[in-house]
This record gives sequence, structure tokens and C-alpha cells, in this order.
Amino acid sequence: MAKKLVFGYGLKVRIEPARQTERPAMQLQVKTVLNDIQHFVGFVYAEVRRVRNRRGRIRRIDIRLEAHGGIDGKCSRCLEPAPGYDRLPERRWQFVPLWGIVTWFLYAPRRVACPRHGVVVEHVPWSEGKRPMTLAMMGFLARWARRLSWRETAQVFQTSWEAVYRSVEWFVQWGLAHRKLEGVESLGVDDLHWGRGKGAASFLTVIYQIDRHCRRLLWVGRRRTMATLRRGLAALGTEVVGGLRFVCSDMWRPYLKVIAAKVGHALHVLDHFHITLHLNQAVDQVRRAESGRLRGRPLAKRLKQMRWHLLRRGSRVRGHARIKLKALLASKLATARAWDLKECFQHFWHYKSPAWAGAFLDYWCWRALRSRLEPMRKVARMLRSHEELLLNWFKAKGEISSGAVEGLNNKIRVVTRRSYGFRTYEAMEIALYHTLGRLPEPESTHRFC
Ligand SMILES: [Zn+2]
Repeated sequence: MAKKLVFGYGLKVRIEPARQTERPAMQLQVKTVLNDIQHFVGFVYAEVRRVRNRRGRIRRIDIRLEAHGGIDGKCSRCLEPAPGYDRLPERRWQFVPLWGIVTWFLYAPRRVACPRHGVVVEHVPWSEGKRPMTLAMMGFLARWARRLSWRETAQVFQTSWEAVYRSVEWFVQWGLAHRKLEGVESLGVDDLHWGRGKGAASFLTVIYQIDRHCRRLLWVGRRRTMATLRRGLAALGTEVVGGLRFVCSDMWRPYLKVIAAKVGHALHVLDHFHITLHLNQAVDQVRRAESGRLRGRPLAKRLKQMRWHLLRRGSRVRGHARIKLKALLASKLATARAWDLKECFQHFWHYKSPAWAGAFLDYWCWRALRSRLEPMRKVARMLRSHEELLLNWFKAKGEISSGAVEGLNNKIRVVTRRSYGFRTYEAMEIALYHTLGRLPEPESTHRFC
């Protein structure tokens, strides 16, 4: 007579009366291994049993635990030993699969009479709260979930997506509660697009630590408003914010305002790669407009084909593409002039003294403003109005790396792209902390992976 039991997290287990309860010599060895890797004081591994299906194949392994006769159970609230009261029905917790076979811990928890807390369920050291999984299994799934997608992890280890999610969540919450934020000197603040929409809700604000010795995600929040960034800085705490020396960000006005108000003591630097991004966007706008004007002519097609080469740094375009790019630039096209301005701006970053860099910036803006290319003029006006922050880059030179924010953004995109399996924002946030937060991990006596 088969009975279907439903446990939490969507795990369905069909419990059948055990057909065979042999006790081969192997049993002793499994117990020995278990005792070696995970010995729980006050408990013994009583029995390891194979459960077979109708065709005689092993379908799961049940490991039954028993309380050590002479040792009192502990109160689950204060962890103090207390005299036994009664015994609850047997419960099961999913354990790390052995040889790819689903494995369960079985135990009938006692209730203890704690002098302080009354009659409560005893503390069960392999589990936490009412979770249907052992801590070992949660750590195991969480570690694998860094290498595989959550869906793959659930498939490979014969469990549910929800179980993987809850495991990672537990792992991340432990890590966030135990992480140390000392020595954070440089922050990178950025906004990222997430999801499919274009509304305010489909942006994230991320705060990174971008020190040379440690680059990690410190905080992530929804939207990209002043309130979001204020919330993020508050989450890091006044001590961390007070110790900052550098903050690196885009020219996004809400961020500039909050950084000036809250982190005014640190040197505020505009990120190198964001400015390149603005320049590239401007070149692309010029190209698109020109392509539209030349519709039907062969030049229009050539412009379209050159799109990606125009967006790369000139020195990185090689081979046949380089010849084509040169031919295009020799023309009198507006796109060629825009591209030339963009390439010219690269010199800015090579200056050593802020004064010379400032002079170059003036010259470049003057040229761009006279170019009659509206997108380039827009960039010039933007750079001019942020001149001070731009020149801070030279004061911070050598102390913060220009590629750190870009590198971390790229890693985030790998996670969010994989995230179409994430049904909620919360799940994605957990995944980001998990892969990029460099969080400490819960201690365990054995690493299962
Ligand atoms: Zn107690």
C-alpha cells in the first residue's frame, strides 16, 4: 500500500513499505563514514537501509538516527540540556545523495521540558528550524548552485528548484550576517538594466567594493533613484561610509547628488568606462542618422556593416576590417568625424598631471562643440559640466582600477541572463550575493563538494 507524503519545498516522496530490510556487511562501513565526517554528539547512526522499487532497484537510502541513551536532549531555544518529555512522530530530512541515490535522515525528535522555555522540541544539530533538508544538503546544493544554474542543480541532485533556492538563501543570509566590512576604501556605484521593461522598476543599483585586494558586490537594490542609493549606503553602515577614500560612479544625477551629500569626504571619480560608453553611444547616433539620410545608397549599407568596428577602440580593429575602417574614415562622412573625436578623447586618460588633462579637455570640448554633430556636442557639454569630477581621476590614479566596475558588471550580467529561471527579484538578488558577494560560508565538519 503506497502512501504519498508531501514535504515542504515541493518535494514529493512516495513512501512504500520497505520490501527488503537486509543488513549487509556494507552497513557498518556507511555508518563509519558518516561518523567520520559528521558526528553529532548525543546521537548515533542506528541503521542504514536501502529501499528498493518493484523492479528491485535501489530507489532511496534511509539513514535512521537515534538519541544516545545517556544524554539528555537540548532545548531548541536555549540549547541547554533538559529532561525528556515525550517523543514526536518520525520526521525525515533530505541528506546529500550517496552514490547518486536520494538519501534521507530519519529521526523521531523528543520534546524536552526546559525550565525556562517549557515543553519544546529538542535541538536537532543536522537541521535548522522546520526545514525539510539537512544543513549538509543545503550547503551542498548552495555550493553547486554557483557552478550550475539553479534548475540544473535541482535536476542533477533530484530535488526541486525551490529546494535549491531555499538552500542558497540560507547560505547567503548566513554569509551576510557574518561578513566583515572592515578596510573598505573604494566603492563603485552603478546602475544596471534588469528584466525586459524600460520602466524605473527594471533597473538595479549596485554598490561594489573595488579595492585592489578585494572586489565584490556589497549591496544591490531595486531602481536607481536617490532613495535607492541612500538605502544602500545606510545598509553598509556609517562606519564603512566614514572610512571611504574613493567613490567611482557614472554621471547619473541622482547618484552624484547622494554621493556629494553622504560621502563628501571621499574623492569622487567618474568611471573611465562610462565615459567611453557615452562617446560610443554618440558615435552610434551619428552613424544611424547618417545611414538614414543615405538610404538606398551603397554607403548606407557599408555604414551599417561597420557598426561594431566603429564602437571598438581604433587600435583593436585589425585585418580586413581595418582596411575597410580606414576607407570609411577617409571619406567626408559625419560618422568619420564623430569617430575621430571619440578616438581622440582616449588621449585624455594618458595624462599624468590634472592641469594638462584639463587643458586637453578644454581643447577637445571646443572641437566637439564646433563639429556640428549634435550627439558629440551633447557629450562635450556633459563632460564640461562634470570637469571637476573628471579630473579627480588623475588624483586617484593608481589607487583605483578603472576596469573594476566594468568587470563586475559583466559578471552580474552572466547571472541575470541566467536568471530567466528566477521568478522573482528576490531570487535574483540572492543569486547575485551568492556569486559575487565573496561571502563567508557556514562552518561544517565536512565539505561535500
Ligand atoms: Zn530553553
